[in-house]
Parts: sequence; C-alpha cells; structure tokens
Amino acid sequence: MKKQIAILGSTGSIGTQALQVIEEHPDLYEAYVLTANNKVDLLIEQARKFKPEAVVIANEDKYLELKEALSDLPIKVYAGTEALCQVVESKPIDIVLTAMVGYAGLKPTMSAIRAGKIIALANKETMVVAGEIINALANEYRTPILPVDSEHSAIFQCLEVNNPLEKVILTASGGPFRTFTMDQLRTVTKEQALKHPNWSMGAKITIDSASMMNKGFEVIEAKWLFGVRPDQIEVVVHPQSVIHSMVEFEDGAVKAQLGVPDMRLPIQYAFSYPQRVRSSFDRLDFMKCHDLTFEAPDTKRFRNLALAYEALHQGGNMPCIVNAANEVVVASFLKDQISFLGMSDVIEKAMQRVPFIKTPTYEDYVSTDAETRRIAAELVINGIK
Ligand code: NDP
Ligand code: MG
Repeated sequence: MKKQIAILGSTGSIGTQALQVIEEHPDLYEAYVLTANNKVDLLIEQARKFKPEAVVIANEDKYLELKEALSDLPIKVYAGTEALCQVVESKPIDIVLTAMVGYAGLKPTMSAIRAGKIIALANKETMVVAGEIINALANEYRTPILPVDSEHSAIFQCLEVNNPLEKVILTASGGPFRTFTMDQLRTVTKEQALKHPNWSMGAKITIDSASMMNKGFEVIEAKWLFGVRPDQIEVVVHPQSVIHSMVEFEDGAVKAQLGVPDMRLPIQYAFSYPQRVRSSFDRLDFMKCHDLTFEAPDTKRFRNLALAYEALHQGGNMPCIVNAANEVVVASFLKDQISFLGMSDVIEKAMQRVPFIKTPTYEDYVSTDAETRRIAAELVINGIK
C-alpha cells in the first residue's frame, strides 16, 4: 500500500522537495492533498502533475482561478484556513507534512493530530508556540511526531531506546554574518541576509538563520520533541553543515549524523520511518571535508539566541510572544522597515510588554499571538522608546 501524504505548503521550499521525494518513489508514496497560500500557478502545475485527491488555497481570493484551472480533473478544490484543518482529517491520509511557514501551521497541525495522522513536522513554529499542548494532544491521540528539521532528524536518527541522554548538541552554520562585527551587523541588508552559505530555504527561515532566531527556535523545538531540559541542549557553531547534530549519552559516547546539506533526506526519513529507503541524492565525500570546525555561538552579536533561551526558561506563553514578535519583525525587515539589529530590540520589548501567562490554554495562545503582533507592529512603526 502506498503511503498517502498531505503536504501543507507544497509550493514552498520544503513542500517542493517533498514532492521530489514522492516523485523518486512512486511505488511508495502518493500526494493526497497539496496546499498553498498564494502561489496558485505553482499549485495548479503541481496538481496537474501529481493528481492529488484535493487541493487547498489558503487565500480565498484565488479560489475561482484554481477551481477553473483544474475543472477538467477529478480534484476537489477548497479555499480558506478552515479548509486546511478539515482536509487533513480525510481518512486515507497516513502522513501530514507540515511545511507551511509560521504560526499559521498550529491549527491544521492540531487537527491532523486529532485525526490520528502521523505528523512529519517541518513547521517548527508550531512546537515553539505551543509545544506543551501539541505533546499532550499527540499523547492523547497516540500520534507520532517525526522531525523534519535537519538537526532534529539527526538527533532522532542517533537516539537508541534505553540509552539515557546526557545532552543533545544542535549544530548551527552561523549563517552569512557569522564573522561580522557589531558595526557591520548594524548596516546589513535583506539581500545579504537572504544569501545563506549552505542551505536554500524560504525567505522567513533564511532571515531567522541569519539572525540565529532559527537556532533559538530549534532549541525550544528540541525540548518538546526529545523531552530534555534547557541545560541539556547545547548549540555549537559548525560552519560546514556536515554534522547535522549530535547526541551525547550518559556514558560520554557521542553519536552524530552526517551528510550533505539536502533537506530531501530528513523529509524522506520522516516518510519512510522506521525503514530507510534508497535515494539518488548526493553522497558525502570525506575527501572534500578537510576542515570540520566548531565554535561557541556569540549571543552578544546574535541576541535572538539569548532571547529564545530566556523564553524557554520562562516557559508559559513567552515562546509564543517571541515567535509572534519575530514574525512581525522578519516581515518588516523584508520590507526594509526595520534594521537587522532592530529586530532583536522589538522582540525584547514585546517580551516585556505582553502579559505573561504561566499555563496558557489554546485560547491564550491565540490571544497572545494577536496581542504580540499588535504591539510589535506598533514598535516597528513608532520605534523603541
Ligand atoms: P516557504 O516560505 O518556502 O514555504 C511556505 C509554504 O507555506 C508555501 O507553500 C506557502 O504558500 C505556505 N504558506 C505560507 N503562509 C501560509 C499561510 N498563512 N497559510 C497557509 N499556507 C501558507 O517556507 P519553507 O519551506 O522554507 O519552510 C516551511 C517550514 O519548514 C517553516 O516552518 C520552516 O521553519 C521549516 N523548515 C524549513 C527548512 C527549509 O530548508 N526550507 C528547514 C527546516 C525547517 P505560497 O507558496 O503560496 O506562499
Ligand atoms: Mg534546522
């Protein structure tokens, strides 16, 4: 039986690579649902090629265009965010790949868990915002959450049952500004930030990587995925991105997962788990890995990493506040409305201004997200006082 896969965000960087994995293994996987936000032309092209059961366009204004373009095919066409939540519940779906970006992924992920689908989790923001609720739901519905993020997939691949962990070590490339001074960071542009040295990804996560918020989010994601304490999560800057992350066990043994930087591998592993299946992806050539280097992250130049650790320690709705403020500042940075370093200032202020809730409910997360966006947008427009 082929595994039926719903890809939330099929038009993005992860989504298109997931379709390449499906294309490599037509005997194993089938795209059952494809979704996009705005890129209707690409969604049409994907639907004509992969012939899913259903497609969803989150932006309702694009519904008619999509519907008409696919009218000769027996594909169900839906629009809107509610439709995303409903479509993942379809009975034949085995795996839901959450490859949409940002807080918008939270609700459909919750629906997919309630429907008992295996979650292939790329959308780390869901875990950052509401990891506790997501884990509780996944336990209640006995739904596995399999990591797609390369670091977490690496850790997942290293883990052994009954081998207690001492710590997990997340590697970080350090991004395009790893060696920049504070003075240089003050004037960096979005064009510079969008040039990641090792990975080609969507715009939001590329900016998060340049500011190291991505690594901060991955620290929070690791806590919820692997049940480790904050002091058991270490970040090591490893500019070559050959080691994707490591696990240190209680006896001091360290296991690492290595490979070329290619997201298709962790995507495919989440699809094939617990098996491994062949791939034609590039192989690691050790004769070209002359220098594997490691250094400590600098939280003075990259304050976002410190802010994320702070949010992790405080818990409650604090990571949700950091995520929402970050989504606002990254969108503003991409429109040249805020400087690179100004992003951390706004996030820090939002952490101070939005009311803290120690044990938030889902509704508290929804209101925290909305309130933080309002405050952060105001801070971007009026500046920090
Ligand atoms: P992209 O921006 O490339 O793609 C995002 C996808 O989500 C697109 O299909 C987009 O549709 C859709 N989308 C965006 N906003 C909404 C919304 N509000 N409602 C519904 N759909 C929406 O992102 P990436 O693929 O880079 O990243 C996706 C997720 O995976 C993120 O959470 C990221 O952190 C995570 N991730 C990504 C990695 C990577 O290598 N890219 C690595 C590890 C994790 P449209 O195209 O129509 O705008
Ligand atoms: Mg990652």
